Amino acid sequence: MADGPLLVYGPRSTTYDFGPSHPLTPRRFGPGIGLLEAVGAKAGLPPEPVDDERLEWIHDAVYVEIVRAFSRDPEARFRAGIGPGDTPAFAGMHEASAAVAGGSLGAMEAILRGDVEHAFHPGGGLHHAMPDRAGGFCVYNDPALAVARARRDDLRILYIDLDVHHGDGVQRIHWNDPGVMTVSIHETGFALFPGTGFVDEVGGPAARGTKVNVPLDPGTGEIGWLAVVREVLPALADSFRPDVVVSQHGADSHAFDPLAHLRVTTTAMGAAARLVDEIAHRWAGGRWLATGGGGYDIFRVVPRTWALVWLAGAHREVPAAIPGAWRGQWAAGAERAAGVELPKTFEDPPNAGLPYGAREEAADRRAPEIAREALAAVGLGA
Ligand SMILES: [Zn+2]
Ligand SMILES: [Zn+2]
Repeated sequence: MADGPLLVYGPRSTTYDFGPSHPLTPRRFGPGIGLLEAVGAKAGLPPEPVDDERLEWIHDAVYVEIVRAFSRDPEARFRAGIGPGDTPAFAGMHEASAAVAGGSLGAMEAILRGDVEHAFHPGGGLHHAMPDRAGGFCVYNDPALAVARARRDDLRILYIDLDVHHGDGVQRIHWNDPGVMTVSIHETGFALFPGTGFVDEVGGPAARGTKVNVPLDPGTGEIGWLAVVREVLPALADSFRPDVVVSQHGADSHAFDPLAHLRVTTTAMGAAARLVDEIAHRWAGGRWLATGGGGYDIFRVVPRTWALVWLAGAHREVPAAIPGAWRGQWAAGAERAAGVELPKTFEDPPNAGLPYGAREEAADRRAPEIAREALAAVGLGA
């Protein structure tokens, strides 16, 4: 597609809002969509709420009722993972969350109809939502719903999760389906939420070997992370032979992220997105839905990560410099809100310019060993 991936974004996107002090803030869409537009993307599919019937492909009816109740009365007492803490209630939360799900579902339908090869939904990627409860800022699981939609056409889905947190909800929802391979590359559950995603989680009785987890040590940087991505993704695609690829590009694996401890760079994230694009073309007829995900450095990291994913799907070179107009528009806001200076390039200097010490070196050295353990756990590799 000469024009690049279908960009899923619209007025509903910013209504998914847990309040001014929550880390997953819709304020990321200002600089994020701004930089996407600066590289040539245009919003082409505004998310609209999905109906209950389709939400219930992946969520319990009782849970959807609970979310609706919180949506009407955000003061209701804590239940189903919703309340004070990570995933607080807010007025209209059902409609806002159903719209995120509807955005990824609509994008998948556009891909299945053949209207587009690739789509990118930066507001999507809410991978922690479970069938019966919310968690980790996620209410409805939009990537799992997009996967479920493709499964209804009997297609085989490769789900690739690059967020720093384990993609636990997608793995759980499709745990016993041998037609869905989930692969999550994340910081180990020993150090980070949600505390799962170990190599021995390989799928339910009907689907053993289709769930793959690569839990990395804190401090793992672009060298180790990208080595893992390059070792596991093509090998798994080649053995699984997907018809569709769905990927989650959480920007919280980045070295600057305030909530986690990997040291990945935008350079590596962009290279990973290009590899996912290649995999989609080589094995899945080009059918690729990419989503955003976590990412809490909303000025320096999230916009560049989104732009690099979109550029990968547009098969375009990364521009040499970040457009000056975008920097001019957001520089003061970044300084005021976060005390940071905006980067001048899409790709980072080595190690994002941070010191590279013994901890990072050891983690990078260990990463390919963990990848081999993960492949061995599903019967692949030496
Ligand atoms: Zn995350
Ligand atoms: Zn492509």
